[in-house]
Amino acid sequence: MGVPSVFVRSSGCNLRCRWCDTPYTSWHPEGDDWTLDRIWAAVEAYPARHVVVTGGEPMIAREIVELTRGLRGRGLHITVETAGTVYASVACDLMSISPKLANSTPAGEWAERHERLRIQTAVVRRLMADYDYQLKFVVAQAEDLGEVRELVGSFGAESGKVILMPEGIDAAVLRERSVWLAEICKQEGFRFSPRLHVELWGNRRGT
Ligand code: SF4
Repeated sequence: MGVPSVFVRSSGCNLRCRWCDTPYTSWHPEGDDWTLDRIWAAVEAYPARHVVVTGGEPMIAREIVELTRGLRGRGLHITVETAGTVYASVACDLMSISPKLANSTPAGEWAERHERLRIQTAVVRRLMADYDYQLKFVVAQAEDLGEVRELVGSFGAESGKVILMPEGIDAAVLRERSVWLAEICKQEGFRFSPRLHVELWGNRRGT
């Protein structure tokens, strides 16, 4: 957080989080097809040397491997943000894995599929083994911590690489949740992450 970065956002996701903050990439995917050359040129037009490849779920995007290899060839530092349900041999300096907790499961026709897919332990462990990583959990209530502890144990993750982030798209809600979540981080030895883009610009597309 805090490093000036260009974001490349793919559209399309294999999950349907109840509180998804980019529904235009999951529940109602939209966007235009861009060639790799166009994406690389757009990224290079910015002065930032860090690029974050996100989604949606970028690991299911067509040509994701070629995209990241081209970014690497241009000397950029690459972070990939993924829910950790699908493996791809991307070029990546920091794998930001965000397995989705039970608080993400929606009601309705997507519930069963989301619940079945959201935790893929073998995929997460392989990503952790192959890349420098961080493990990020979106926490909505203090009761979520039981599941976080269980997953951190089953993945065999170092607590110093675990990040807790409050769920929310409203600055007032995030402030309230941040207070108790920061205390939990102190107790557990996890890292805390605010949602800086919401604090700075509000819940707006393009930020
Ligand atoms: S994994 Fe990410 S993009 Fe997909 S539904 Fe959940 S929050 Fe939205």
